Amino acid sequence: MQIKEILTLTPVQQEVTVKGWVRTKRGQAAVTFIAINDGSTIHNIQAVVEGNNINEDTLKLVTTGSCVAVTGKLIASVGSGQAVEVKAEKVEVYGTADETFPMQPKRHSMEFLREKAHLRFRTNTFGAIFRIRHALAFAIHKYFNDNGFFYLHTPIITASDAEGAGEMFHVTTLDIKNPPKTETGDIDYKEDFFGRETSLTVSGQLEGELGALALSKIYTFGPTFRAENSNTTRHLAEFWMIEPEVAFYELEDNMTLAEDFVQYVIKYALENCADDLAFLEKRLLDEEKNKPQNERSDMSLIEKLRFVVDNKFERLTYTEAIEILLKSKPHKEKKFQYPVEWGIDLQSEHERYLVEKHFKKPVILTNYPREIKAFYMKQDADGKTVRAMDVLFPGIGEIIGGSQREDDYEKLLSRVKEVGIDPENIWWYLETRKFGSAPHAGFGLGFERLVLFVTGMTNIRDVIAFPRTPKSAEF
Ligand code: ATP
Ligand code: MN
Repeated sequence: MQIKEILTLTPVQQEVTVKGWVRTKRGQAAVTFIAINDGSTIHNIQAVVEGNNINEDTLKLVTTGSCVAVTGKLIASVGSGQAVEVKAEKVEVYGTADETFPMQPKRHSMEFLREKAHLRFRTNTFGAIFRIRHALAFAIHKYFNDNGFFYLHTPIITASDAEGAGEMFHVTTLDIKNPPKTETGDIDYKEDFFGRETSLTVSGQLEGELGALALSKIYTFGPTFRAENSNTTRHLAEFWMIEPEVAFYELEDNMTLAEDFVQYVIKYALENCADDLAFLEKRLLDEEKNKPQNERSDMSLIEKLRFVVDNKFERLTYTEAIEILLKSKPHKEKKFQYPVEWGIDLQSEHERYLVEKHFKKPVILTNYPREIKAFYMKQDADGKTVRAMDVLFPGIGEIIGGSQREDDYEKLLSRVKEVGIDPENIWWYLETRKFGSAPHAGFGLGFERLVLFVTGMTNIRDVIAFPRTPKSAEF
């Protein structure tokens, strides 16, 4: 039985066996208290060893980090802090851990824990994060399933480098020391495994669209890869993306879907991860105590999550956002690092001003200049903007990027050529606009950015088990 379940039992001296890892062991005269955690919950169960019930040599092996099985009677706890405890009658040590075990019961820095990513699951913080991550993933599948979407598995290896979403990782079986060459001296990819140049995908969207233009409502949820050398707290080289794509949706419907979906999954976490969120909320409070007053957030973690669930997101166009930024105090006082004018790609500082200072809630920006957005976005009638939408969150910036897609064959083709993509490379994508084209829209949600928001963590490396970032792929 898992500890989570044992902790809910009514103690009637029934025999239970607890298996897990020892968090702490403390002794008081003839009594020893062992706190055991098996990862099923943030809460430990306490095993009590009295007198010489248990062999002294065995008890010596029970140290922080060791793995044990404790059998005994489940009794009401006399101490505060827990309802039940186990009166140990038998202790089996599966695996010992000496004093070099790095996860000793004290506060470790996040940097230190990243270097020990193989063991950091055994801390309260990372236990909470990965349980919440799981709950969010489950809620995502549940939301789509309950709303008539089909889970489509789009390929991870792709030959289309058409997205312009960032640098790609090449996939090849060629001998990189001595690749075959063409007559002109280039690498001859005809000799490569797939007979052409291939990479790891940066997005499942293009293939997702093909599915939506038959199944009507699909979503993908898979790993994506970007070889962008941006060492920020919001970027990973390998991250998970959720991409719904819906036939007959226009931009407004897309915004409504994004808002409803994000609110649903956050609400799911609030309802199903209360203990873990309470722990992370307290952790965040403690962390913020070390910050100057003006950098502390005015809402606690759970208040912040409720706020997002309970309030409508603010919707405005890119052009309106630029007007707000031009009138803003930081712009007038030249406090923004990057200039503001119509046509710029908004920087994180601009997005955060809009979300955190001006509106103080999530914001959906729409109708961006076509020059700064991808080729597949539907062009607006003004010839200047496209039907794009970005959802911006406090503390994170962009969490979702999406759009209504260009469904007019000629317009799409001319845009493809304009941005320098060879139409031959995506003939299959273009053909969907020739045969039964339909208005459709979709978006991409970066899963780790969502987990970051819900857990209140501040570095994206701490919400994925084994982060892949520039110069780092240790585990
Ligand atoms: P940003 O401007 O933050 O780099 P983007 O415009 O490149 O984002 P999109 O291509 O629209 O992002 O991807 C959709 C979503 O995927 C983003 O809204 C974000 O949540 C997430 N995302 C993008 N790049 C990364 C990354 N390197 N690591 C983690 N998540 C990412
Ligand atoms: Mn990017």
